[in-house]
Amino acid sequence: SSLKEGAFGYSGQLFRYAKGPISEGAVTEGDWGSSLRKLSIINPTSGDATFMKEIIMGYQGEMSLKGLNRNQFEAAMMKILRYRLKTVGKFRVYCTQSTFYMEPEEEDVDMDLAFERVSKVFGLAALSRAVVCEKDFDTICQTAEDYLGSALHGIRTFKVEARRADKTYPMTSPELMRELGAYLLGKHNYLKVDVHNPQFKVIVEIRDYGAYIHGPKIPGEGGLPVGTSGRALNMLSGGIDSPVAAYRMAKRGLALDHIHFASPPYTSERAKLKVKALAQLITVYTGSANLFVVPYTKPQEYIRDNAPDVLFTVLMRRSMMRIANVIAKKQGCEALVTGESLAQVASQTVKALQCTDAAQDLPILRPLIGMDKTEIIETSRHINTFETSILPYEDCCTIFTPPHPKIRPELEEILAAEAAMPGLAALEAEAAEQTERIRVRITDQVEFEG
Ligand code: ATP
Ligand code: MG
Repeated sequence: SSLKEGAFGYSGQLFRYAKGPISEGAVTEGDWGSSLRKLSIINPTSGDATFMKEIIMGYQGEMSLKGLNRNQFEAAMMKILRYRLKTVGKFRVYCTQSTFYMEPEEEDVDMDLAFERVSKVFGLAALSRAVVCEKDFDTICQTAEDYLGSALHGIRTFKVEARRADKTYPMTSPELMRELGAYLLGKHNYLKVDVHNPQFKVIVEIRDYGAYIHGPKIPGEGGLPVGTSGRALNMLSGGIDSPVAAYRMAKRGLALDHIHFASPPYTSERAKLKVKALAQLITVYTGSANLFVVPYTKPQEYIRDNAPDVLFTVLMRRSMMRIANVIAKKQGCEALVTGESLAQVASQTVKALQCTDAAQDLPILRPLIGMDKTEIIETSRHINTFETSILPYEDCCTIFTPPHPKIRPELEEILAAEAAMPGLAALEAEAAEQTERIRVRITDQVEFEG
């Protein structure tokens, strides 16, 4: 064999992605790819020397939008992928024919970590892992068996697909399919070829610098690359809903900053740290972000002391929106995002939302408006924020809340109540002025333990 013994960076944990949710310890010896541990990269960059390495491929999802062209999307995507991989190792990232290639340029790169990172990047409909080996047919056969052989155990039907970018290759695509298929049939007694509906596909691509042998496609997050739809300011509480709202809007290509209203001493320092931890947890989807913390005690006390009880919550939410508007415009954000869901609480009825909307002039995006709590919780578990969200800390939205808030407030009575609070605007301006900015980086560790 032309493949030498040695340390190959691959830890043999690919199969867990194919089987469903990632769980530690679910991988056993004999899982797909584990035999690659014995193989080494001999010459990863030259064209003809014996080499073999694992790479990641990402397939574009929805990329089209009037006004923005494909090149802009691809450039944005590659920038994001490079950034996500920077702390994992040295990678070459490029795009051809709607596919993004991520190739490690050094040995001992943690490919499981790399895969986990890029599988959370919006804009990829699917991903797969592949090995690159030399193009000699015997090597292709042996590599395919080493890399994918254990995935062929215990199934009945498969199919080989072959593509040739290198048209000088001595075998045609149909020949490759037939010959590699025959080789794999010889290794797996119970296997049959099914060209129409195979349980497993082995894909071989002959390219200039090597043969690429693919594992199965794993679904990606879909969506659009973050930043291609502009920037918005997400209103982040410590609850379950608002991190999910951020995830949903980042998925549609919005870059996000967060704003949080704190009312010390009614809300604690720990409550603020919890919000920071939530912002940190979702950086794997949103990228690094700013978290603006508004000292909201004075405006909030002023509203409590000067407005009718039953209108308190809607008046406070309008006040929060006005402050958010100021911060948003300073940051170049073109919209506000909230985790509101229709009729979940009194301030989320259609009438109350009308009053909130009228407080300022930026569009308010409410991606959870039509979602049930159970659906929101499902997503919250998916993005790994649920356990942090349910830690019991006070939120400024729930202090001073009247026992019977008005469910159908009229805008006229709200405006009348605000006219009777002449000191509010100055307090809001002061709060906006004294807002603290916390930088939340994707490379930082989550430190909050509850
Ligand atoms: P969540 O689970 O996100 O806390 P919720 O169901 O508790 O939402 P509310 O407390 O009424 O609902 O808040 C509705 C939305 O208002 C939140 O989803 C969030 O976007 C925003 N919000 C609430 N409290 C704050 C806060 N302290 N700072 C910033 N935004 C907030
Ligand atoms: Mg809340």
